[in-house]
Amino acid sequence: MHVGKLMARLNPKNVRFDVGAGGIPELTSTDIAAALGMVPAGLGRELLCRMWWPDGADLTARDLSQMLLNCLEREWARRESAMLDGMLAVAAHRGGDSLRRAQRMYGEAHANRWPKFVAVPETGELNSVYPAMARCVVLETIEPKHCPACGGRGQVKSSTGPKVCDRCEGAGTVAYGNTRRARHLGVIESAYRQTWDRPYTWLLEHATDELRSATRAMERAAA
Ligand SMILES: [Zn+2]
Repeated sequence: MHVGKLMARLNPKNVRFDVGAGGIPELTSTDIAAALGMVPAGLGRELLCRMWWPDGADLTARDLSQMLLNCLEREWARRESAMLDGMLAVAAHRGGDSLRRAQRMYGEAHANRWPKFVAVPETGELNSVYPAMARCVVLETIEPKHCPACGGRGQVKSSTGPKVCDRCEGAGTVAYGNTRRARHLGVIESAYRQTWDRPYTWLLEHATDELRSATRAMERAAA
């Protein structure tokens, strides 16, 4: 069963009187909405609604972006805290193994560090790339790019019949390119690659994982 197609039936413009034909499970709108009620509230459910049934979302688009921005800030703070631990370890080492361990901690924390979250400490003004990143990740999650190799079908023709598309491995969608992401973030492409790809990829994976869990919960509830 495709959760999205099921949920899309809740949109007024999609209401049909012939649903149930063609092997689609005969669930009523009430059943579908009740199944959605079984999906734990949070980021995954919000993304699921935004994809398939926007009226069912609890949060506005702005609040959803804010939720992702909060995720970025927490992760940024965690990485800064690891950086501080590394610096303290280097300051307090007792030579030998303790020094090597401290240097490793510091090196890893330094490599994992993200750019400043707050651009202007005096006013608390955020580095504008992070809010733009939160919006772009919502977009990439709910409106993924169709795979150009298979036109979004996930399959291509071959001499032995249809086969799974190599480019998207059957998903039908592919990641946004660096050019597109950089444009949304308001940075040049080389800056995206060098500086912003790591936080972007982290947030996209986080959002994708949450969406996947919510989709599974919806599948179980509607089964
Ligand atoms: Zn494909």
